[in-house]
Amino acid sequence: MKNEVLLSIPIEKSATSKITNVDFENLTFGSIFTDHMFVCDYKDGAWQTPQIVPYGPIELEPSARVFHYGQAVFEGMKAYKDEEDQIWLFRPDENFKRINKSSKRLAIPEFPEEFFFQGMKTLLQLEKDWIKKGIGNSLYIRPFVIATQGSVLASPANEYRFMIICSPAQAYYGGEVRVKIAEHYSRAASGGVGAAKAAGNYAAQFYPTNLAKEEGYQQVIWTDADTHEYLEEAGTMNVFFRIGDTLITAPNDDKILDGVTRKSVIAVAERNGIKVEVRRIKVDEIVKAVKDGKLKEIFGSGTAAVINPILGFGYKGEKFELPKIENSYANLFKETITKIQHNEAEDPYGWRYKV
Ligand code: PMP
Repeated sequence: MKNEVLLSIPIEKSATSKITNVDFENLTFGSIFTDHMFVCDYKDGAWQTPQIVPYGPIELEPSARVFHYGQAVFEGMKAYKDEEDQIWLFRPDENFKRINKSSKRLAIPEFPEEFFFQGMKTLLQLEKDWIKKGIGNSLYIRPFVIATQGSVLASPANEYRFMIICSPAQAYYGGEVRVKIAEHYSRAASGGVGAAKAAGNYAAQFYPTNLAKEEGYQQVIWTDADTHEYLEEAGTMNVFFRIGDTLITAPNDDKILDGVTRKSVIAVAERNGIKVEVRRIKVDEIVKAVKDGKLKEIFGSGTAAVINPILGFGYKGEKFELPKIENSYANLFKETITKIQHNEAEDPYGWRYKV
């Protein structure tokens, strides 16, 4: 089996652990990292022997291409611990495929599958005490690749570093989310890098998102760059709309990230007899539906929050609120997926992956 290749990864253990200083009840997302990290360099046309070393600063030439041309991609995934202390990942093969798809788009060499899985498993075993039990608790895993070659020539680097760092996370409550529907700025263009988890995609969202925040919104729902008539996705989430009892989400194309949670929501919906339409959605359709009282839910899907309900939106100077709802689809999806992730429910889909 391809994931069972026994690659043994050299480990340099950290002399001390930071874990006793961590308040696991009060974690700020993504700010504390575990004791070790996985590192693998690419040079001379090949990925070299990976290793696990103490978490700490890395040294790079100021001319490293990542700083100048943003040749960098990343992933976001989570590990969970069940009541029997077993550690689980959720559909990690999807993240593996996606990081290599992103890399390909950014002219970064693809990373070997056995390095990815063996590296992650070894790291997670080493950091198992950092993964806390209980629904909502997890260890956020951030694999990423950067161009390390020192040279400001604007062409693909010939040296890279692949790393995995991990950060303990609590149940993510995004607070009350109201979104601004983008009218001017856009996140991705046809033929561009929207479908890649390219670092620069996120930097480009910060400024328009800040503007939306000044207007009292928490996030932006991006619309297509050409017409701003079609809804695409949110900052780090895919977006679903429920009109009547039908769930609608935009199709994946080269502008929209192929979210793991998104495809899981679609599968859970279909299994529960909920009608799903994967098609382009006009902003006007949503505005009309909310005015007619037919828009019942909007929610985002993503690894961080699983499902994040959106309570209202702003568009062309108008503000719309969604009615309160009981038995929401959002709750059904969040509960179903979260329980599978934590090994608290059957997994008829085969999504759980034992570490
Ligand atoms: N869209 C974007 C732009 C994202 O960054 C993310 C987070 N990875 C998502 C959607 C949701 O993807 P996933 O469900 O795989 O986390």
